[in-house]
Amino acid sequence: MKLAMIIPPYRYGADPTQWITVPPQGYGGIQWVAATLIDGLLEAGCEVLLVGAPGSPARSGLNVSASLEPGDIRAAIDDFNPAVVHDHSNTAALPPEGPWPVVSTHHLNGVPERRENGIYVSAAQRRNAGSFTAPVIRLPVNPERCLFQEEKDDYLLFMGRVSAHKGAYEAAAFAHAAGLPLKVAGPSWEPEYLERLLADYPHTADYIGEVGGRARTELIARARAILVLSQTWGGPFGGPWVEPGATVVSEAAASGTPVIASSNGCLPEIVPGVGTVLPSTAEITPTAATEILDGLPTAQEVLKTAVDRWGHLKIAQEYLTVYERAARGERWM
Ligand code: UDP
Repeated sequence: MKLAMIIPPYRYGADPTQWITVPPQGYGGIQWVAATLIDGLLEAGCEVLLVGAPGSPARSGLNVSASLEPGDIRAAIDDFNPAVVHDHSNTAALPPEGPWPVVSTHHLNGVPERRENGIYVSAAQRRNAGSFTAPVIRLPVNPERCLFQEEKDDYLLFMGRVSAHKGAYEAAAFAHAAGLPLKVAGPSWEPEYLERLLADYPHTADYIGEVGGRARTELIARARAILVLSQTWGGPFGGPWVEPGATVVSEAAASGTPVIASSNGCLPEIVPGVGTVLPSTAEITPTAATEILDGLPTAQEVLKTAVDRWGHLKIAQEYLTVYERAARGERWM
Protein backbone atom coordinates (compact mmCIF):
# COMPACT_ATOMS: atom_id res chain seq x y z
CA MET A 1 0.00 0.00 0.00
CA LYS A 2 1.25 3.55 -0.78
CA LEU A 3 0.85 5.95 2.13
CA ALA A 4 1.60 9.64 2.56
CA MET A 5 2.49 10.36 6.20
CA ILE A 6 2.17 14.00 7.24
CA ILE A 7 3.68 15.35 10.45
CA PRO A 8 3.75 18.96 11.66
CA PRO A 9 6.99 20.68 10.60
CA TYR A 10 8.90 22.08 13.62
CA ARG A 11 12.13 24.02 13.42
CA TYR A 12 15.20 22.50 15.01
CA GLY A 13 17.45 24.97 16.81
CA ALA A 14 18.12 28.50 15.63
CA ASP A 15 19.07 27.63 12.03
CA PRO A 16 15.98 28.44 9.88
CA THR A 17 16.89 25.70 7.37
CA GLN A 18 16.90 22.89 9.97
CA TRP A 19 13.77 20.88 10.80
CA ILE A 20 13.11 18.26 13.42
CA THR A 21 13.62 15.04 11.51
CA VAL A 22 12.09 11.55 11.68
CA PRO A 23 13.49 10.13 13.93
CA PRO A 24 14.14 13.34 15.87
CA GLN A 25 17.54 14.72 16.85
CA GLY A 26 16.27 15.20 20.45
CA TYR A 27 12.80 15.89 21.88
CA GLY A 28 9.99 14.85 19.53
CA GLY A 29 7.14 12.49 20.37
CA ILE A 30 5.26 12.70 17.05
CA GLN A 31 8.54 12.24 15.16
CA TRP A 32 9.31 9.06 17.12
CA VAL A 33 5.80 7.75 16.51
CA ALA A 34 6.16 8.39 12.77
CA ALA A 35 9.64 6.79 12.65
CA THR A 36 8.46 3.66 14.43
CA LEU A 37 5.22 3.33 12.47
CA ILE A 38 7.15 3.76 9.21
CA ASP A 39 9.54 0.97 10.34
CA GLY A 40 6.54 -1.34 10.74
CA LEU A 41 4.86 -0.27 7.48
CA LEU A 42 8.05 -0.75 5.44
CA GLU A 43 8.49 -4.22 6.92
CA ALA A 44 4.90 -4.95 5.87
CA GLY A 45 5.85 -4.01 2.28
CA CYS A 46 4.33 -0.52 2.11
CA GLU A 47 5.79 2.48 0.32
CA VAL A 48 5.74 5.73 2.29
CA LEU A 49 6.06 9.43 1.44
CA LEU A 50 7.01 11.44 4.54
CA VAL A 51 5.91 15.08 4.59
CA GLY A 52 6.76 17.68 7.25
CA ALA A 53 10.25 16.59 8.18
CA PRO A 54 12.70 17.77 5.48
CA GLY A 55 16.20 16.40 6.01
CA SER A 56 14.99 13.07 7.44
CA PRO A 57 16.97 10.07 6.20
CA ALA A 58 15.29 8.34 3.24
CA ARG A 59 15.69 4.57 2.76
CA SER A 60 14.32 1.85 0.54
CA GLY A 61 10.54 2.31 0.41
CA LEU A 62 10.66 5.68 2.22
CA ASN A 63 10.62 8.92 0.23
CA VAL A 64 11.15 12.19 2.13
CA SER A 65 9.49 15.31 0.75
CA ALA A 66 11.24 18.69 1.08
CA SER A 67 7.91 20.51 0.58
CA LEU A 68 6.59 22.82 3.29
CA GLU A 69 4.21 25.18 1.49
CA PRO A 70 0.59 23.96 1.08
CA GLY A 71 0.71 24.06 -2.75
CA ASP A 72 4.01 22.17 -2.86
CA ILE A 73 2.78 19.58 -0.35
CA ARG A 74 -0.33 19.08 -2.45
CA ALA A 75 1.79 18.59 -5.60
CA ALA A 76 4.14 16.15 -3.82
CA ILE A 77 1.22 14.03 -2.61
CA ASP A 78 -0.45 14.14 -6.04
CA ASP A 79 2.81 12.97 -7.65
CA PHE A 80 3.14 10.12 -5.15
CA ASN A 81 -0.51 9.10 -5.66
CA PRO A 82 -1.07 7.36 -2.29
CA ALA A 83 -3.94 5.02 -1.43
CA VAL A 84 -4.37 6.90 1.86
CA VAL A 85 -3.01 10.08 3.47
CA HIS A 86 -2.22 9.69 7.18
CA ASP A 87 -2.17 13.06 8.93
CA HIS A 88 -0.43 13.53 12.31
CA SER A 89 -0.43 17.33 12.10
CA ASN A 90 -4.01 18.07 13.27
CA THR A 91 -4.49 19.49 9.71
CA ALA A 92 -1.65 22.04 10.11
CA ALA A 93 0.23 20.58 7.11
CA LEU A 94 -2.64 18.69 5.44
CA PRO A 95 -3.68 20.18 2.07
CA PRO A 96 -7.37 21.04 2.40
CA GLU A 97 -8.87 19.35 -0.63
CA GLY A 98 -7.45 16.19 -2.01
CA PRO A 99 -8.99 13.27 -3.87
CA TRP A 100 -7.36 10.78 -1.46
CA PRO A 101 -8.94 9.31 1.68
CA VAL A 102 -7.47 10.80 4.87
CA VAL A 103 -7.08 9.30 8.33
CA SER A 104 -5.79 11.45 11.21
CA THR A 105 -4.05 10.39 14.39
CA HIS A 106 -4.75 12.86 17.19
CA HIS A 107 -1.71 13.59 19.33
CA LEU A 108 -3.09 16.47 21.41
CA ASN A 109 -5.84 17.15 23.94
CA GLY A 110 -9.44 18.12 23.17
CA VAL A 111 -11.32 17.85 19.89
CA PRO A 112 -9.19 17.46 16.73
CA GLU A 113 -9.60 19.93 13.88
CA ARG A 114 -10.72 17.10 11.66
CA ARG A 115 -12.93 14.56 13.39
CA GLU A 116 -13.72 12.47 10.31
CA ASN A 117 -11.67 9.26 10.23
CA GLY A 118 -9.92 10.15 13.46
CA ILE A 119 -7.68 7.70 15.31
CA TYR A 120 -6.90 8.15 18.99
CA VAL A 121 -3.92 6.93 20.98
CA SER A 122 -5.86 6.13 24.17
CA ALA A 123 -9.44 5.70 25.31
CA ALA A 124 -8.99 8.66 27.69
CA GLN A 125 -7.92 10.92 24.82
CA ARG A 126 -10.81 9.69 22.65
CA ARG A 127 -13.32 10.35 25.46
CA ASN A 128 -11.84 13.82 25.96
CA ALA A 129 -12.43 14.47 22.25
CA GLY A 130 -16.09 13.45 22.54
CA SER A 131 -15.69 10.37 20.35
CA PHE A 132 -16.79 6.86 21.29
CA THR A 133 -16.39 4.68 18.24
CA ALA A 134 -13.24 5.85 16.43
CA PRO A 135 -10.33 3.39 16.62
CA VAL A 136 -7.80 3.56 19.45
CA ILE A 137 -4.33 2.52 18.29
CA ARG A 138 -1.50 2.66 20.82
CA LEU A 139 1.78 4.43 20.19
CA PRO A 140 4.23 1.95 18.64
CA VAL A 141 7.75 1.12 19.75
CA ASN A 142 10.53 -0.57 17.79
CA PRO A 143 12.77 -2.46 20.23
CA GLU A 144 15.60 -2.33 17.70
CA ARG A 145 15.70 1.43 18.14
CA CYS A 146 16.01 1.02 21.94
CA LEU A 147 18.83 -0.35 24.04
CA PHE A 148 17.81 -3.15 26.40
CA GLN A 149 19.69 -3.33 29.67
CA GLU A 150 18.89 -5.66 32.54
CA GLU A 151 21.36 -4.21 35.07
CA LYS A 152 20.27 -0.77 36.18
CA ASP A 153 22.16 2.16 37.62
CA ASP A 154 20.97 3.87 40.79
CA TYR A 155 19.12 6.84 39.32
CA LEU A 156 15.57 7.69 38.35
CA LEU A 157 14.70 9.44 35.09
CA PHE A 158 12.36 12.18 33.97
CA MET A 159 12.35 12.59 30.18
CA GLY A 160 10.13 15.12 28.42
CA ARG A 161 9.14 18.76 28.42
CA VAL A 162 10.18 20.16 31.80
CA SER A 163 6.69 21.55 32.40
CA ALA A 164 4.09 21.46 35.16
CA HIS A 165 1.70 19.17 33.24
CA LYS A 166 4.44 16.60 32.64
CA GLY A 167 5.11 16.27 36.37
CA ALA A 168 8.85 16.96 36.48
CA TYR A 169 8.48 18.57 39.92
CA GLU A 170 6.55 15.57 41.27
CA ALA A 171 9.28 13.32 39.85
CA ALA A 172 11.87 15.23 41.88
CA ALA A 173 9.70 14.91 45.01
CA PHE A 174 9.43 11.13 44.47
CA ALA A 175 13.18 10.75 43.88
CA HIS A 176 13.88 12.81 47.02
CA ALA A 177 11.64 10.50 49.07
CA ALA A 178 13.33 7.45 47.52
CA GLY A 179 16.78 8.85 48.29
CA LEU A 180 17.86 8.45 44.65
CA PRO A 181 19.16 11.04 42.19
CA LEU A 182 16.81 12.17 39.41
CA LYS A 183 18.18 12.91 35.97
CA VAL A 184 15.93 15.46 34.26
CA ALA A 185 16.20 15.36 30.44
CA GLY A 186 14.26 17.50 28.01
CA PRO A 187 13.63 21.00 26.76
CA SER A 188 12.89 23.65 29.39
CA TRP A 189 10.57 26.23 27.88
CA GLU A 190 9.40 27.47 31.28
CA PRO A 191 12.65 28.51 32.99
CA GLU A 192 10.95 29.55 36.26
CA TYR A 193 9.47 26.08 36.68
CA LEU A 194 12.88 24.43 36.24
CA GLU A 195 14.52 26.96 38.58
CA ARG A 196 11.98 26.19 41.31
CA LEU A 197 12.48 22.44 40.86
CA LEU A 198 16.27 22.76 41.12
CA ALA A 199 16.04 25.16 44.07
CA ASP A 200 13.67 22.85 46.00
CA TYR A 201 15.58 19.62 45.25
CA PRO A 202 19.21 20.73 44.88
CA HIS A 203 20.71 17.41 46.02
CA THR A 204 18.28 15.22 44.05
CA ALA A 205 17.61 16.75 40.62
CA ASP A 206 20.29 17.02 37.93
CA TYR A 207 19.16 18.87 34.77
CA ILE A 208 21.02 17.50 31.75
CA GLY A 209 19.10 19.33 28.99
CA GLU A 210 17.68 17.79 25.82
CA VAL A 211 19.22 14.46 24.83
CA GLY A 212 19.28 12.53 21.55
CA GLY A 213 21.06 9.65 19.82
CA ARG A 214 23.03 7.09 21.82
CA ALA A 215 23.09 9.31 24.97
CA ARG A 216 19.27 9.17 25.00
CA THR A 217 18.89 5.41 24.55
CA GLU A 218 21.56 4.72 27.20
CA LEU A 219 19.97 7.14 29.64
CA ILE A 220 16.61 5.35 29.30
CA ALA A 221 18.09 1.84 29.44
CA ARG A 222 20.23 2.42 32.53
CA ALA A 223 17.59 4.13 34.69
CA ARG A 224 16.16 2.20 37.61
CA ALA A 225 12.70 3.54 36.63
CA ILE A 226 11.19 6.35 34.58
CA LEU A 227 8.79 8.75 36.31
CA VAL A 228 5.74 9.80 34.29
CA LEU A 229 3.80 11.74 36.91
CA SER A 230 1.69 13.73 34.46
CA GLN A 231 -0.59 16.32 36.11
CA THR A 232 -4.14 17.29 35.20
CA TRP A 233 -3.39 21.04 35.18
CA GLY A 234 -0.74 23.29 33.65
CA GLY A 235 -1.15 22.11 30.06
CA PRO A 236 0.43 23.95 27.13
CA PHE A 237 -2.57 26.24 26.69
CA GLY A 238 -3.19 26.70 30.41
CA GLY A 239 -6.21 24.38 30.60
CA PRO A 240 -6.66 20.86 31.91
CA TRP A 241 -4.29 18.21 30.62
CA VAL A 242 -5.29 14.65 29.78
CA GLU A 243 -2.06 12.74 29.07
CA PRO A 244 -2.83 11.53 25.53
CA GLY A 245 -0.36 8.73 24.71
CA ALA A 246 2.95 9.12 26.61
CA THR A 247 5.56 7.94 24.11
CA VAL A 248 8.13 7.57 26.89
CA VAL A 249 6.18 4.69 28.50
CA SER A 250 6.68 2.27 25.62
CA GLU A 251 10.24 3.50 24.97
CA ALA A 252 11.22 2.88 28.59
CA ALA A 253 9.51 -0.51 28.71
CA ALA A 254 11.21 -1.66 25.50
CA SER A 255 14.52 -0.71 27.17
CA GLY A 256 13.68 -2.88 30.20
CA THR A 257 12.99 0.18 32.35
CA PRO A 258 9.80 0.10 34.46
CA VAL A 259 7.44 3.05 34.77
CA ILE A 260 6.09 4.88 37.81
CA ALA A 261 3.09 6.90 36.68
CA SER A 262 0.30 9.14 37.88
CA SER A 263 -3.29 8.22 37.03
CA ASN A 264 -3.76 10.99 34.45
CA GLY A 265 -5.22 10.32 30.99
CA CYS A 266 -3.84 7.27 29.18
CA LEU A 267 -1.53 6.18 32.00
CA PRO A 268 -3.89 3.80 33.87
CA GLU A 269 -4.61 2.14 30.49
CA ILE A 270 -1.01 1.50 29.51
CA VAL A 271 1.19 1.37 32.61
CA PRO A 272 -0.14 -1.76 34.43
CA GLY A 273 2.18 -4.58 33.36
CA VAL A 274 5.14 -2.29 32.72
CA GLY A 275 5.09 -0.44 36.02
CA THR A 276 2.81 1.01 38.63
CA VAL A 277 0.16 3.74 38.73
CA LEU A 278 0.19 5.80 41.92
CA PRO A 279 -3.19 6.72 43.40
CA SER A 280 -3.69 10.50 43.08
CA THR A 281 -3.89 10.84 46.88
CA ALA A 282 -0.78 8.77 47.61
CA GLU A 283 1.61 10.35 50.08
CA ILE A 284 5.12 9.41 49.03
CA THR A 285 7.07 8.77 52.22
CA PRO A 286 10.57 7.26 52.03
CA THR A 287 9.10 3.88 53.04
CA ALA A 288 6.36 4.10 50.39
CA ALA A 289 8.86 5.09 47.69
CA THR A 290 11.12 2.15 48.53
CA GLU A 291 8.18 -0.26 48.49
CA ILE A 292 7.05 1.06 45.11
CA LEU A 293 10.54 0.63 43.64
CA ASP A 294 10.90 -2.87 45.10
CA GLY A 295 7.53 -3.91 43.65
CA LEU A 296 8.25 -2.94 40.04
CA PRO A 297 8.27 -5.62 37.31
CA THR A 298 11.61 -6.92 36.04
CA ALA A 299 13.41 -5.66 32.94
CA GLN A 300 12.56 -8.85 31.01
CA GLU A 301 8.89 -8.61 31.99
CA VAL A 302 8.48 -5.02 30.85
CA LEU A 303 10.32 -5.67 27.57
CA LYS A 304 8.06 -8.60 26.77
CA THR A 305 4.91 -6.65 27.62
CA ALA A 306 6.06 -3.68 25.52
CA VAL A 307 6.69 -5.82 22.44
CA ASP A 308 3.45 -7.80 22.86
CA ARG A 309 1.35 -4.66 23.25
CA TRP A 310 3.09 -1.98 21.23
CA GLY A 311 5.63 -3.65 18.93
CA HIS A 312 5.94 -1.73 15.63
CA LEU A 313 4.89 -4.73 13.51
CA LYS A 314 1.68 -5.24 15.48
CA ILE A 315 0.77 -1.55 15.50
CA ALA A 316 1.53 -1.25 11.75
CA GLN A 317 -0.98 -4.07 11.12
CA GLU A 318 -3.60 -2.22 13.17
CA TYR A 319 -3.00 0.89 11.07
CA LEU A 320 -3.16 -1.12 7.84
CA THR A 321 -6.62 -2.35 8.84
CA VAL A 322 -7.74 1.25 9.33
CA TYR A 323 -6.12 2.42 6.07
CA GLU A 324 -7.99 -0.33 4.24
CA ARG A 325 -11.28 0.80 5.77
CA ALA A 326 -10.62 4.37 4.63
CA ALA A 327 -9.49 3.22 1.17
CA ARG A 328 -12.79 1.31 0.82
CA GLY A 329 -14.62 4.58 1.43
CA GLU A 330 -15.66 3.98 5.04
CA ARG A 331 -16.14 7.07 7.15
CA TRP A 332 -16.24 7.29 10.94
CA MET A 333 -16.12 9.98 13.62
N1 UDP B 1 12.69 13.10 24.18
C1 UDP B 1 13.99 13.04 23.73
N2 UDP B 1 14.94 13.79 24.35
C2 UDP B 1 14.66 14.58 25.41
C3 UDP B 1 13.32 14.62 25.89
C4 UDP B 1 12.36 13.87 25.24
O1 UDP B 1 14.30 12.33 22.78
O2 UDP B 1 15.56 15.22 25.92
C5 UDP B 1 11.66 12.31 23.48
C6 UDP B 1 11.09 11.16 24.27
O3 UDP B 1 11.93 10.02 24.19
C7 UDP B 1 9.73 10.98 23.60
C8 UDP B 1 9.34 12.40 23.20
O4 UDP B 1 10.55 13.17 23.20
O5 UDP B 1 9.87 10.21 22.42
C9 UDP B 1 8.32 13.03 24.12
O6 UDP B 1 7.08 12.46 23.83
P1 UDP B 1 5.96 12.23 24.94
O7 UDP B 1 4.77 11.63 24.24
O8 UDP B 1 6.51 11.45 26.08
O9 UDP B 1 5.62 13.70 25.46
P2 UDP B 1 4.91 14.95 24.71
O10 UDP B 1 4.83 14.63 23.25
O11 UDP B 1 3.56 15.09 25.37
O12 UDP B 1 5.79 16.10 25.01
